[in-house]
Amino acid sequence: PAAADRAQLSLQQLSFTYPDQPQPVLRDVTLEVAAGEHIALLGRTGCGKSTLLQLLTRAWRTDGGKILLNGEPLEDYDETTLRRMTTVVSQRVHIFSDTLRENLRLAAPDADDARLSDVLQQVGLGKLLAGDGGLNAWLGEGGRQLSGGEQRRLGIARALLHPAPLLLLDEPTEGLDAETEQQILALLRRHCQGKTLILVTHRLYGLEHLDRICVMDDGPNCRTGQSRGP
Ligand code: ATP
Ligand code: MG
Repeated sequence: PAAADRAQLSLQQLSFTYPDQPQPVLRDVTLEVAAGEHIALLGRTGCGKSTLLQLLTRAWRTDGGKILLNGEPLEDYDETTLRRMTTVVSQRVHIFSDTLRENLRLAAPDADDARLSDVLQQVGLGKLLAGDGGLNAWLGEGGRQLSGGEQRRLGIARALLHPAPLLLLDEPTEGLDAETEQQILALLRRHCQGKTLILVTHRLYGLEHLDRICVMDDGPNCRTGQSRGP
């Protein structure tokens, strides 16, 4: 399948067990996400939310069931197309041992410095630009160590730079203060207009801005329920 600027997802009776684990993490998960829909994914710690997002990036092979993206099986996509269509902010944002510029440009190789600076300001990381080296500042090993909140905001900056129609955000504002969190969520909502968003969160406020809330049950019989229509 070719890359598209919309993303509709269909998860059908999805099951997954980690290698060498006795119990499945996900069993019979069924979920339809319309193109342009924004959903919150809630559920107790350990119920499989991050695992579900990882399956959507094809990090693991599922044991059973289907994942369809725009009606085509996920496994039929070539890697480049899938990367173009999906952007992820994982629970632990990975910072590469490289410059600030290159840490951002992996999400948008064509972005110029003005655009990178603009996005950094938007996520409240203007301070990094003002520091030693600006966009040339070295991050990671042997360089500037970012705080947890800074790492997370760098992840969000990458998501904002990436043109993908499908955004998978795993607790992107965890650890941020309430005011910063509200600003970032508003920024993400604006960015995600017309795009498909799956937002994993433990926070119960701000959810009224999303189209739908899915709650995953605990235990091996994980399933998604629909608590509210769009
Ligand atoms: P949280 O809200 O704490 O982030 P979560 O819903 O995202 O939790 P997952 O990270 O998806 O939960 O984990 C689901 C289950 O799978 C947990 O019991 C976890 O210990 C287990 N698990 C996660 N990663 C692996 C792995 N690589 N190998 C084996 N088991 C794993
Ligand atoms: Mg998780």
